[in-house]
Amino acid sequence: MNKLSRVQATLADLIAFPTISVDSNLQMMAYLEESLTKVGARVTLQHDATGKKANLWASLGPEVDGGVILSGHSDVVPVEDQDWTTDPFTLVEKDGLLYGRGTCDMKGFIAACIALAPDFAKLDLKRPIHFAFTYDEETACLGAQALVKMLAKSPVKPAIALIGEPTEMRVIEGHKGCCEYTTRFTGLEGHGSNPNAGVNAVEYAVLYVSKLLELREGLKSRAPEGSRFDPPWTTINIGGLHGGVAHNVIVGKAEVDWEFRPVQATDYDYVTTEITRYATQELLPKMQAIHPEAAIHTETLGEVAGLEPMEINAARDLLAELTGANSADVVSFGTEAGLFQSIGIDAVVCGPGSIAQAHKPDEFVAKDQLAACIKILEGVAHRLTQ
Ligand SMILES: [Zn+2]
Repeated sequence: MNKLSRVQATLADLIAFPTISVDSNLQMMAYLEESLTKVGARVTLQHDATGKKANLWASLGPEVDGGVILSGHSDVVPVEDQDWTTDPFTLVEKDGLLYGRGTCDMKGFIAACIALAPDFAKLDLKRPIHFAFTYDEETACLGAQALVKMLAKSPVKPAIALIGEPTEMRVIEGHKGCCEYTTRFTGLEGHGSNPNAGVNAVEYAVLYVSKLLELREGLKSRAPEGSRFDPPWTTINIGGLHGGVAHNVIVGKAEVDWEFRPVQATDYDYVTTEITRYATQELLPKMQAIHPEAAIHTETLGEVAGLEPMEINAARDLLAELTGANSADVVSFGTEAGLFQSIGIDAVVCGPGSIAQAHKPDEFVAKDQLAACIKILEGVAHRLTQ
Protein backbone atom coordinates (compact mmCIF):
# COMPACT_ATOMS: atom_id res chain seq x y z
CA MET A 1 0.00 0.00 0.00
CA ASN A 2 1.36 3.44 -0.78
CA LYS A 3 1.55 6.07 1.93
CA LEU A 4 -1.58 7.96 0.95
CA SER A 5 -3.62 4.74 0.95
CA ARG A 6 -2.25 3.91 4.39
CA VAL A 7 -3.24 7.35 5.67
CA GLN A 8 -6.70 6.95 4.16
CA ALA A 9 -7.17 3.52 5.75
CA THR A 10 -6.07 4.89 9.13
CA LEU A 11 -8.42 7.85 8.72
CA ALA A 12 -11.30 5.46 8.03
CA ASP A 13 -10.52 3.72 11.33
CA LEU A 14 -10.34 7.03 13.23
CA ILE A 15 -13.56 8.44 11.77
CA ALA A 16 -15.40 5.33 13.00
CA PHE A 17 -14.71 6.35 16.64
CA PRO A 18 -17.50 8.83 17.51
CA THR A 19 -15.29 10.96 19.76
CA ILE A 20 -17.68 13.86 20.29
CA SER A 21 -16.27 16.03 23.07
CA VAL A 22 -18.87 15.02 25.70
CA ASP A 23 -18.21 11.31 25.10
CA SER A 24 -15.28 9.03 25.90
CA ASN A 25 -12.28 8.93 23.57
CA LEU A 26 -10.69 5.87 25.18
CA GLN A 27 -11.37 3.46 22.29
CA MET A 28 -9.64 5.76 19.86
CA MET A 29 -6.77 6.28 22.29
CA ALA A 30 -6.38 2.50 22.67
CA TYR A 31 -6.16 2.24 18.88
CA LEU A 32 -3.51 4.97 18.70
CA GLU A 33 -1.62 3.44 21.62
CA GLU A 34 -1.55 0.04 19.93
CA SER A 35 -0.41 1.47 16.60
CA LEU A 36 2.41 3.45 18.19
CA THR A 37 3.51 0.74 20.61
CA LYS A 38 3.79 -1.69 17.70
CA VAL A 39 6.45 0.49 16.07
CA GLY A 40 8.41 0.87 19.29
CA ALA A 41 7.18 4.24 20.57
CA ARG A 42 7.14 4.92 24.31
CA VAL A 43 3.48 5.67 25.00
CA THR A 44 1.81 7.30 28.02
CA LEU A 45 -1.92 7.78 28.49
CA GLN A 46 -2.92 10.64 30.77
CA HIS A 47 -6.52 10.26 31.99
CA ASP A 48 -8.86 13.04 33.08
CA ALA A 49 -10.57 13.10 36.48
CA THR A 50 -13.57 11.08 35.22
CA GLY A 51 -11.33 8.38 33.74
CA LYS A 52 -13.43 8.48 30.55
CA LYS A 53 -11.03 10.54 28.50
CA ALA A 54 -7.30 10.55 28.00
CA ASN A 55 -4.44 12.33 26.30
CA LEU A 56 -1.81 10.28 24.55
CA TRP A 57 1.86 11.23 24.68
CA ALA A 58 4.30 9.10 22.73
CA SER A 59 7.92 9.40 21.65
CA LEU A 60 10.13 7.82 19.01
CA GLY A 61 13.89 8.25 18.96
CA PRO A 62 16.36 9.16 21.70
CA GLU A 63 15.25 10.66 25.02
CA VAL A 64 16.91 14.02 24.50
CA ASP A 65 15.92 17.67 24.17
CA GLY A 66 15.17 19.36 20.88
CA GLY A 67 12.47 17.10 19.47
CA VAL A 68 9.35 17.96 17.52
CA ILE A 69 5.82 17.50 18.86
CA LEU A 70 3.10 16.52 16.38
CA SER A 71 -0.07 17.67 18.07
CA GLY A 72 -3.72 17.00 17.37
CA HIS A 73 -7.01 16.75 19.25
CA SER A 74 -9.02 13.54 19.26
CA ASP A 75 -12.44 15.08 19.88
CA VAL A 76 -14.92 16.26 17.28
CA VAL A 77 -17.97 18.52 17.40
CA PRO A 78 -21.50 17.01 17.48
CA VAL A 79 -23.44 16.04 14.36
CA GLU A 80 -26.96 16.43 15.71
CA ASP A 81 -29.12 19.03 13.95
CA GLN A 82 -26.78 18.82 10.97
CA ASP A 83 -27.95 17.64 7.59
CA TRP A 84 -25.40 15.05 6.47
CA THR A 85 -25.70 13.30 3.09
CA THR A 86 -23.53 10.42 4.33
CA ASP A 87 -23.02 8.66 7.67
CA PRO A 88 -20.69 11.08 9.51
CA PHE A 89 -18.87 8.19 11.22
CA THR A 90 -18.10 6.25 8.04
CA LEU A 91 -15.37 7.53 5.75
CA VAL A 92 -16.78 8.07 2.26
CA GLU A 93 -14.65 8.95 -0.78
CA LYS A 94 -16.06 11.00 -3.63
CA ASP A 95 -14.13 12.86 -6.34
CA GLY A 96 -10.88 12.94 -4.40
CA LEU A 97 -12.56 14.17 -1.23
CA LEU A 98 -12.89 12.14 1.98
CA TYR A 99 -16.08 12.81 3.93
CA GLY A 100 -16.75 12.21 7.61
CA ARG A 101 -16.91 14.01 10.96
CA GLY A 102 -13.39 14.99 11.92
CA THR A 103 -11.79 14.42 8.49
CA CYS A 104 -10.33 17.94 8.43
CA ASP A 105 -10.74 18.86 12.13
CA MET A 106 -8.50 17.05 12.75
CA LYS A 107 -8.27 13.31 12.34
CA GLY A 108 -6.74 13.65 8.86
CA PHE A 109 -3.60 15.03 10.45
CA ILE A 110 -3.59 12.39 13.20
CA ALA A 111 -4.07 9.65 10.60
CA ALA A 112 -1.06 10.95 8.68
CA CYS A 113 1.08 10.93 11.85
CA ILE A 114 0.01 7.41 12.77
CA ALA A 115 0.29 5.95 9.26
CA LEU A 116 3.82 7.36 8.89
CA ALA A 117 4.99 6.30 12.36
CA PRO A 118 6.35 2.94 11.06
CA ASP A 119 8.56 4.89 8.61
CA PHE A 120 9.68 7.33 11.30
CA ALA A 121 10.58 4.40 13.54
CA LYS A 122 13.06 3.10 10.94
CA LEU A 123 14.94 6.42 10.76
CA ASP A 124 18.15 7.10 12.62
CA LEU A 125 16.62 9.90 14.67
CA LYS A 126 19.10 12.17 16.47
CA ARG A 127 16.25 13.98 18.23
CA PRO A 128 12.82 12.57 19.11
CA ILE A 129 9.46 12.80 17.39
CA HIS A 130 6.71 13.20 19.97
CA PHE A 131 3.00 12.62 19.43
CA ALA A 132 0.55 14.64 21.52
CA PHE A 133 -3.09 13.70 21.01
CA THR A 134 -5.53 15.40 23.36
CA TYR A 135 -9.16 15.37 24.54
CA ASP A 136 -11.63 18.23 24.97
CA GLU A 137 -10.08 20.71 22.55
CA GLU A 138 -13.45 21.67 21.12
CA THR A 139 -14.75 22.65 24.56
CA ALA A 140 -11.97 24.46 26.42
CA CYS A 141 -8.65 22.81 25.56
CA LEU A 142 -8.81 20.94 28.87
CA GLY A 143 -6.77 17.99 27.64
CA ALA A 144 -3.95 20.12 26.29
CA GLN A 145 -3.85 22.12 29.52
CA ALA A 146 -3.24 18.93 31.49
CA LEU A 147 -0.73 17.67 28.93
CA VAL A 148 1.25 20.89 28.96
CA LYS A 149 1.39 20.80 32.77
CA MET A 150 2.89 17.31 32.56
CA LEU A 151 5.31 18.41 29.81
CA ALA A 152 6.51 21.39 31.80
CA LYS A 153 7.75 18.98 34.50
CA SER A 154 9.32 16.52 32.08
CA PRO A 155 13.14 16.36 31.98
CA VAL A 156 13.07 16.17 28.16
CA LYS A 157 12.44 19.55 26.48
CA PRO A 158 10.95 19.45 22.99
CA ALA A 159 11.91 22.43 20.81
CA ILE A 160 9.01 22.65 18.40
CA ALA A 161 5.28 21.94 18.37
CA LEU A 162 3.43 21.47 15.08
CA ILE A 163 -0.33 21.71 15.54
CA GLY A 164 -2.06 20.12 12.55
CA GLU A 165 -5.33 22.09 12.61
CA PRO A 166 -6.76 22.62 9.13
CA THR A 167 -4.94 25.51 7.43
CA GLU A 168 -4.73 24.01 3.92
CA MET A 169 -1.08 23.50 4.83
CA ARG A 170 -0.52 27.23 5.17
CA VAL A 171 1.93 28.22 7.91
CA ILE A 172 0.16 30.01 10.75
CA GLU A 173 2.21 31.73 13.43
CA GLY A 174 -0.48 33.54 15.36
CA HIS A 175 -4.04 33.62 16.59
CA LYS A 176 -5.83 35.43 19.37
CA GLY A 177 -6.70 33.76 22.64
CA CYS A 178 -10.29 33.32 23.75
CA CYS A 179 -11.44 33.72 27.34
CA GLU A 180 -15.08 33.35 28.39
CA TYR A 181 -16.62 34.21 31.73
CA THR A 182 -19.91 34.60 33.55
CA THR A 183 -19.79 37.07 36.43
CA ARG A 184 -22.60 36.72 39.00
CA PHE A 185 -23.72 39.49 41.34
CA THR A 186 -25.58 38.72 44.55
CA GLY A 187 -27.23 41.76 46.12
CA LEU A 188 -30.15 42.30 48.46
CA GLU A 189 -33.75 42.50 47.25
CA GLY A 190 -36.08 45.21 48.50
CA HIS A 191 -38.89 47.54 47.55
CA GLY A 192 -38.15 49.84 44.65
CA SER A 193 -39.41 52.82 46.62
CA ASN A 194 -36.29 52.76 48.82
CA PRO A 195 -33.23 51.92 46.69
CA ASN A 196 -30.81 52.53 49.58
CA ALA A 197 -32.31 49.73 51.65
CA GLY A 198 -31.17 47.06 49.21
CA VAL A 199 -28.20 46.18 47.02
CA ASN A 200 -29.26 46.28 43.39
CA ALA A 201 -27.38 43.48 41.62
CA VAL A 202 -28.22 44.79 38.14
CA GLU A 203 -26.91 48.26 38.97
CA TYR A 204 -23.58 46.78 40.10
CA ALA A 205 -23.54 44.56 37.02
CA VAL A 206 -23.95 47.69 34.88
CA LEU A 207 -21.00 49.36 36.62
CA TYR A 208 -18.97 46.22 35.99
CA VAL A 209 -19.94 46.27 32.31
CA SER A 210 -19.00 49.96 32.11
CA LYS A 211 -15.57 49.12 33.49
CA LEU A 212 -15.15 46.39 30.89
CA LEU A 213 -16.08 48.88 28.15
CA GLU A 214 -13.56 51.37 29.53
CA LEU A 215 -10.89 48.65 29.45
CA ARG A 216 -11.93 47.81 25.90
CA GLU A 217 -11.19 51.37 24.80
CA GLY A 218 -7.83 51.29 26.56
CA LEU A 219 -6.84 48.06 24.83
CA LYS A 220 -6.80 49.76 21.43
CA SER A 221 -3.70 51.75 22.30
CA ARG A 222 -1.98 48.58 23.56
CA ALA A 223 -2.05 46.84 20.15
CA PRO A 224 1.40 45.48 19.30
CA GLU A 225 3.14 47.41 16.55
CA GLY A 226 2.49 45.89 13.15
CA SER A 227 -0.24 43.62 14.51
CA ARG A 228 -1.83 41.64 11.68
CA PHE A 229 -4.93 40.66 13.62
CA ASP A 230 -8.33 41.99 12.62
CA PRO A 231 -9.02 44.07 14.61
CA PRO A 232 -5.35 44.50 15.59
CA TRP A 233 -5.96 44.82 19.34
CA THR A 234 -7.45 42.72 22.12
CA THR A 235 -11.25 42.89 22.10
CA ILE A 236 -13.87 42.55 24.82
CA ASN A 237 -17.47 41.60 24.11
CA ILE A 238 -20.48 41.71 26.42
CA GLY A 239 -22.56 38.69 25.44
CA GLY A 240 -25.39 39.01 27.95
CA LEU A 241 -26.74 40.93 30.92
CA HIS A 242 -29.50 39.24 32.89
CA GLY A 243 -31.43 40.09 36.02
CA GLY A 244 -34.56 41.53 37.55
CA VAL A 245 -38.16 40.49 38.13
CA ALA A 246 -40.33 43.64 38.19
CA HIS A 247 -40.19 47.41 37.82
CA ASN A 248 -40.61 48.06 41.54
CA VAL A 249 -38.24 45.45 42.97
CA ILE A 250 -34.57 46.00 43.82
CA VAL A 251 -32.79 43.26 41.92
CA GLY A 252 -31.20 40.54 44.07
CA LYS A 253 -29.31 38.64 41.39
CA ALA A 254 -27.68 39.54 38.09
CA GLU A 255 -25.33 37.96 35.60
CA VAL A 256 -22.94 39.26 32.97
CA ASP A 257 -21.68 37.00 30.17
CA TRP A 258 -18.51 38.33 28.62
CA GLU A 259 -15.47 37.26 26.65
CA PHE A 260 -12.18 38.71 25.56
CA ARG A 261 -9.69 37.77 22.89
CA PRO A 262 -6.15 38.72 23.86
CA VAL A 263 -3.57 39.34 21.13
CA GLN A 264 -0.75 39.10 23.69
CA ALA A 265 -0.20 37.57 27.12
CA THR A 266 0.31 41.00 28.72
CA ASP A 267 -3.23 42.02 27.71
CA TYR A 268 -4.59 38.90 29.37
CA ASP A 269 -2.85 39.93 32.61
CA TYR A 270 -3.98 43.55 32.21
CA VAL A 271 -7.69 42.77 31.75
CA THR A 272 -7.96 40.09 34.43
CA THR A 273 -6.02 42.14 36.97
CA GLU A 274 -7.89 45.38 36.33
CA ILE A 275 -11.39 43.93 36.35
CA THR A 276 -10.70 41.82 39.44
CA ARG A 277 -9.27 44.85 41.23
CA TYR A 278 -12.32 46.93 40.30
CA ALA A 279 -14.77 44.26 41.47
CA THR A 280 -13.08 43.43 44.76
CA GLN A 281 -11.78 46.86 45.78
CA GLU A 282 -14.43 49.23 44.44
CA LEU A 283 -17.75 47.45 43.91
CA LEU A 284 -17.74 44.80 46.60
CA PRO A 285 -17.00 47.08 49.62
CA LYS A 286 -19.95 49.31 48.63
CA MET A 287 -22.24 46.30 48.28
CA GLN A 288 -21.13 44.72 51.54
CA ALA A 289 -21.46 47.98 53.49
CA ILE A 290 -25.21 47.52 53.10
CA HIS A 291 -25.38 43.74 52.98
CA PRO A 292 -22.33 41.77 54.23
CA GLU A 293 -23.38 38.66 52.29
CA ALA A 294 -23.34 40.50 48.96
CA ALA A 295 -20.97 38.85 46.50
CA ILE A 296 -19.39 38.98 43.07
CA HIS A 297 -18.24 35.69 41.64
CA THR A 298 -16.70 35.04 38.24
CA GLU A 299 -16.94 31.62 36.64
CA THR A 300 -14.37 30.81 33.97
CA LEU A 301 -15.97 28.91 31.11
CA GLY A 302 -12.81 28.61 29.10
CA GLU A 303 -9.42 30.22 28.68
CA VAL A 304 -7.59 29.35 25.50
CA ALA A 305 -4.21 30.99 25.26
CA GLY A 306 -3.42 32.86 22.06
CA LEU A 307 -0.48 32.08 19.81
CA GLU A 308 1.56 35.23 19.85
CA PRO A 309 3.54 35.95 16.67
CA MET A 310 7.20 36.04 17.72
CA GLU A 311 10.27 37.39 16.02
CA ILE A 312 12.11 34.17 16.82
CA ASN A 313 10.07 31.03 16.15
CA ALA A 314 11.95 27.90 15.05
CA ALA A 315 8.67 26.06 14.41
CA ARG A 316 7.48 28.68 11.95
CA ASP A 317 10.87 28.82 10.24
CA LEU A 318 11.04 25.04 9.81
CA LEU A 319 7.52 24.81 8.36
CA ALA A 320 8.05 27.79 6.09
CA GLU A 321 11.18 26.12 4.75
CA LEU A 322 9.46 22.76 4.21
CA THR A 323 6.32 24.20 2.60
CA GLY A 324 8.21 26.83 0.63
CA ALA A 325 6.09 29.58 2.15
CA ASN A 326 7.62 33.05 2.04
CA SER A 327 5.70 34.28 5.03
CA ALA A 328 3.53 33.07 7.86
CA ASP A 329 0.01 34.22 8.52
CA VAL A 330 -2.38 34.74 11.40
CA VAL A 331 -5.90 33.31 11.69
CA SER A 332 -9.04 34.07 13.64
CA PHE A 333 -9.68 30.60 15.10
CA GLY A 334 -8.08 29.28 18.28
CA THR A 335 -5.91 26.19 18.70
CA GLU A 336 -3.80 24.48 21.37
CA ALA A 337 -0.64 26.12 20.01
CA GLY A 338 -0.60 28.93 22.58
CA LEU A 339 -0.47 26.40 25.40
CA PHE A 340 2.77 24.94 24.04
CA GLN A 341 4.12 28.45 23.55
CA SER A 342 3.26 29.24 27.17
CA ILE A 343 5.83 26.67 28.37
CA GLY A 344 8.55 27.91 26.05
CA ILE A 345 8.07 25.61 23.06
CA ASP A 346 8.04 27.31 19.64
CA ALA A 347 4.71 26.54 18.01
CA VAL A 348 3.17 26.74 14.57
CA VAL A 349 -0.17 25.68 13.11
CA CYS A 350 -0.13 23.86 9.77
CA GLY A 351 -2.40 21.02 8.73
CA PRO A 352 -4.46 19.47 5.95
CA GLY A 353 -7.99 20.54 5.03
CA SER A 354 -9.78 23.83 5.40
CA ILE A 355 -11.31 25.45 8.45
CA ALA A 356 -14.22 26.31 6.14
CA GLN A 357 -15.30 22.65 6.30
CA ALA A 358 -14.72 22.21 10.02
CA HIS A 359 -17.75 21.83 12.30
CA LYS A 360 -20.08 21.68 9.25
CA PRO A 361 -22.23 18.89 7.81
CA ASP A 362 -20.44 16.94 5.05
CA GLU A 363 -17.06 17.83 6.50
CA PHE A 364 -14.28 16.62 4.21
CA VAL A 365 -10.56 16.64 3.58
CA ALA A 366 -9.11 16.51 0.06
CA LYS A 367 -6.75 13.63 -0.66
CA ASP A 368 -4.20 16.00 -2.17
CA GLN A 369 -4.18 17.88 1.15
CA LEU A 370 -3.27 14.63 2.91
CA ALA A 371 -0.58 14.01 0.29
CA ALA A 372 0.87 17.47 0.98
CA CYS A 373 0.76 16.76 4.71
CA ILE A 374 2.65 13.48 4.23
CA LYS A 375 5.44 15.33 2.43
CA ILE A 376 5.75 17.90 5.20
CA LEU A 377 5.75 15.29 7.98
CA GLU A 378 8.47 13.37 6.15
CA GLY A 379 10.45 16.57 5.88
CA VAL A 380 10.09 17.18 9.62
CA ALA A 381 11.19 13.62 10.41
CA HIS A 382 14.14 13.84 8.03
CA ARG A 383 15.29 17.02 9.76
CA LEU A 384 15.45 15.12 13.05
CA THR A 385 17.97 12.66 11.55
CA GLN A 386 20.48 15.48 11.02
ZN1 LIG B 1 -9.79 21.54 15.65
